[in-house]
Amino acid sequence: MTSAPTAAAVSAENRPTDGVSAFQTDDRPRWEDYSRCVHCGLCLNVCPTFRLLGEEMDSPRGRIYQIAQADAGRLELERLRTHLDRCLDCRACETACPSGVQYGRILEGARAELAAADRLAAGKRLRDRLAGRLRRHLFERVLPSRGRMRLYASLLDAGQRMGLPGLAERIGLLRALGLENAARLAPRLARPFFHREIGQTFPAHGERRARVVLLAGCMQNIFFTNMNRAALRVLQWNGCEVEIPAGQTCCGALHMHAGERETARRLARKNLEAFDAGGFDAIVTASAGCGSTLKEYGELLAQDARAAVFAGKVRDITEFLAALGLRNDGLRALPASVTYQDACHLAHGQRIRSAPRELLRAVPGLKLIEMPHADQCCGSAGTYNLEQPEIAGRLLREKMQWARSTGADWIVTANPGCQLQIQAGVRASGQPQPVLHVIELLAIAHGFPPMPD
Ligand code: SF4
Ligand code: SF4
Repeated sequence: MTSAPTAAAVSAENRPTDGVSAFQTDDRPRWEDYSRCVHCGLCLNVCPTFRLLGEEMDSPRGRIYQIAQADAGRLELERLRTHLDRCLDCRACETACPSGVQYGRILEGARAELAAADRLAAGKRLRDRLAGRLRRHLFERVLPSRGRMRLYASLLDAGQRMGLPGLAERIGLLRALGLENAARLAPRLARPFFHREIGQTFPAHGERRARVVLLAGCMQNIFFTNMNRAALRVLQWNGCEVEIPAGQTCCGALHMHAGERETARRLARKNLEAFDAGGFDAIVTASAGCGSTLKEYGELLAQDARAAVFAGKVRDITEFLAALGLRNDGLRALPASVTYQDACHLAHGQRIRSAPRELLRAVPGLKLIEMPHADQCCGSAGTYNLEQPEIAGRLLREKMQWARSTGADWIVTANPGCQLQIQAGVRASGQPQPVLHVIELLAIAHGFPPMPD
């Protein structure tokens, strides 16, 4: 690797093109985006992978440099893979960057290139092929389909009742298939599934203050039903009429992170059809990861004018409720303490930090104790914790130490993926801190069941 280029070396008139670009698809990282990096290095210290690994090539600046080299034909595409795979896509670097580099967009463009190359590559090892097929099946057939989600959830339920996961672990099948980590992180099914609410409209309690649509998501309908129901009830309680459109589907966030842009576009189009964005005050989601992607629909479907309208209506539920103002007549006192973990796709991806904290502070009796490095990624990052378990595990162990240092009764976050990861951290460390979504805590303060253990 040659030394890092100077700012002048990436100026518009001096675009390096030594050979044929390693990038071949329309989703490639764009020169206009990555050339904004002036290599100042101000992002390095906020980057979790640079901090842990101490390698320039595992920093935002180093990754952008490699991407520029690949685009100039100086670096083979495959040489990017390790360092890009290690990136959490947490976008802390975007917050730190004085040049406004939209790193997430650059990374996802490069990952789209790697995913396209994967589809063409032959002769991968059997286990890689199996993992790839499973992932593609999950991304293209399961996540977008409520019927298949229900079917697989029922099979999983039956398997769990028969003790199959324990048996598979005992005979070494999970290890042989490389599924040990997935089994450790697997969320529990949360019946009744949220599917029964989809397709219905729920009235506002009292005077109507807003009409909103709620994105039910994909995994949330099976594994995070409590979060979705809490969102619905708190919105209703605060004077919102809530429609949950029947035609909606998975938002495509996991696909975007993994570079599967075509599937993400297909899902986005379906959601545009399902949500009459013009007819509502907001499109609300309780998942920071989904919200971040929904707000990017305008870019993803740049040719479709409806996409920008849709994206402009999307609100994270904390952002929406903080702006609306909570009705405080129904909030009961919670004499407890919480510490808040910033979800990367809320703090860095959507620049929302104060709204969740404002909502927590609005609950009488509840004490918010800030944890150190609250906006440092917990290691969840979409499917990162499955694909890079070693680094994700180190990040999680750090996170658990910081959470424990607060002595708070509960850990609160605003993204189901973070919730799952931190719950795994709580189990592993024997730390007796329940992990909740902000909206679940608000639901408790409103007196809606269930209470946490
Ligand atoms: S997205 Fe996160 S892990 Fe990736 S380069 Fe930026 S700060 Fe580092
Ligand atoms: S802070 Fe921004 S401009 Fe500076 S090195 Fe990082 S990405 Fe490049």
